[in-house]
Order: sequence, then C-alpha cells, then structure tokens
Amino acid sequence: MTDCIIVGSGAAGVSAALTLKANAKNFMLFGSPDLSEKIAKAERIRNYPGLSNISGKEFAEVLKIQLKEADIEVCNERVTGVYALKDKFSVLTEQGNTYESKTVIIACGVESVKQIDGETEFSGRGVSYCATCDGFLYKGKTIGVVCTSKRLEHEIGYLADFAKQVYLVPMYKDVEISRENITVIKKMPKKIDGKLRVDRLVFAAPPAEDIPAELPVDGVFMLRESVSPAILVGGLEQENGHVKVGRDTSTNLKGCFAAGDCTGRPYQYAKAVGEGNIAAHAVSEYLK
Ligand SMILES: Cc1cc2nc3c(=O)[nH]c(=O)nc-3n(C[C@H](O)[C@H](O)[C@H](O)COP(=O)(O)OP(=O)(O)OC[C@H]3O[C@@H](n4cnc5c(N)ncnc54)[C@H](O)[C@@H]3O)c2cc1C
Repeated sequence: MTDCIIVGSGAAGVSAALTLKANAKNFMLFGSPDLSEKIAKAERIRNYPGLSNISGKEFAEVLKIQLKEADIEVCNERVTGVYALKDKFSVLTEQGNTYESKTVIIACGVESVKQIDGETEFSGRGVSYCATCDGFLYKGKTIGVVCTSKRLEHEIGYLADFAKQVYLVPMYKDVEISRENITVIKKMPKKIDGKLRVDRLVFAAPPAEDIPAELPVDGVFMLRESVSPAILVGGLEQENGHVKVGRDTSTNLKGCFAAGDCTGRPYQYAKAVGEGNIAAHAVSEYLK
C-alpha cells in the first residue's frame, strides 16, 4: 500500500508529486504521459512567476523534465473510482487494476464539457463512465456513447465488442474508429431519459435523415478524460460544482485532499501548483 495516490497529472498533480517526493513519501501519480491537455493548449503563458512568456507545450516539457529528474513516473491509467474504506483508499482504474493507499489527492481538473440533462439522475442506472468496468453488462444490447477525446477511442472499440449497436456521439474531430455496429452521430444529445433506468437518448431534432430524434438505448457511456470528482469519489462534499476544501486542501473525507481547478476558481496554473504543494504537505502531516 502506498502513502498516497494522486489522481491527475496537471499542474496541481505534478506539484503535489514533486513535494511528496521531497518529503520522502511513496506514492503513485495517475494521469497521462502528456500531463494535461489544458497545459498543452495554452498558446502563451504570461502570468506564471519564474517562466517568462512561454507556450503551454514548453511549460509541459519543463514539468516533464522535473518529473524525470525527481524519478517520478506518470501511471497512464484513467481512474474510474476512489473508495474510502476504514483507514485506506481503494482506487480502481479503467484497466481493471485496483490500488490501495493511505491517502489520496484529487487533482483531476475540471471538465469543460457540460453535463447532459439526465446524466446525474441516471448515473448507476444506465449511465456509466467506465467501459471496462461496465461494458460486459451490455452484451448484445444497444448503447449510446458520448466521447470527448480521440485518446479514448480504444474504449469505444471495447464496448463495440460487446454491444449489438453503438450510437457514437463524438465531441472531437477526425473520428478514426469504424465498425459495422458503430453509427457515428455528429450532434449533441439534449437529454438522457427513461423511467427506472435509461431507455432513450434524445436529440433536439433528428440528427440525420435516417436517424430519429429519440433513440432507444439500454445504456449510455460518458467517456471523458476527466470524471467529475463527485462521481469519482462517493460521498465527496461539493460546493457550487467544485470539491469543498479547507485551507489545507482537506475534504470532508478523512485522508482525502483536493487541489487545482477541481476545488474552484480562479482556474490558473499558479493556484493549482500552490494547492498541489499544500495538499502534499497536508498528506505528510496526516501520515504522521
Ligand atoms: C486554452 C487554455 C489556456 C490557459 N492559459 C492559462 C494561462 O495563461 N495562465 C494560467 O494561469 N492558466 C491558464 N489556463 C488554466 C490552466 O490550464 C488550469 O488552471 C490548470 O491546468 C489547472 O491545473 P489542474 O492540475 O488543476 O488541472 P488540469 O491541468 O486540467 O489537469 C488535470 C489532469 O488530470 C487528469 N485526469 C482527470 N481525471 C482523471 C482520472 N479520472 N484519472 C487519471 N487522470 C485524470 C487529466 O487528464 C489531466 O491530465 C488555461 C487553460 C486553457 C484551457
């Protein structure tokens, strides 16, 4: 069991990792090898002290060098669930692996894609966020898949192996995946609807001539780079759509800390880095 698991490899997660390393803690940092899309996307960064007028890509490169120098690896697995047990946390990833730690730092950023009506209401009743966890439940069935990143196309393929029919709603350009049982719909759905469970995906108007505005589905998979912390960690207290934290980044769950954009505005690197640092120190204190 590790001292800490950090969920997210953006500015907050990297900062937390560097400080935990300096504090001689053993930990795992989950995220992506590119660290964060939001870092890479920034054209010019002019408000980060110490780095003058650099591009997001250059910033990411510096962070990668720092991680390498500190001998910290990013574990390229998407975390799909964090479970608070009596005195430890169990962390589940999309690859089906389970890891245990004494503490966790949630640094998963914020998802800029808005939730769809009905998504939260039907979460666990036909709405799923993890292909490898729930895909087998839809063997021979019809599902909707809303996907925000090409990087997650392998999950769509995994679902198409089970499902009879997949209605794929891509929220990215250049869809590459192509299968006989995948129909690509380039319109955002208006609502996920049903009675006790999801039974249809509703569009504002028929998305194509041969596709009706209401598609009967047995389930809907929401594949996003980032899962809302409230869905990721059961029982985590929220405030105005963000994780509620104290000055030391502690949450309402003992041993669970949060840092960066997921704790609220302003959405800025300096704030994310500062909170990551505070969270790492708070974890070290907690472990004492
Ligand atoms: C175009 C653009 C330009 C910007 N320009 C500036 C600027 O000039 N100055 C400034 O201060 N700020 C800027 N920002 C804001 C800045 O990018 C964010 O405030 C900062 O990246 C927040 O860091 P974070 O670590 O909290 O989250 P993020 O950078 O969003 O990182 C979160 C990471 O967690 C990973 N993750 C999420 N969920 C999971 C999961 N379940 N399992 C594993 N990994 C997960 C994500 O893949 C991502 O790598 C800009 C943002 C954008 C989009």
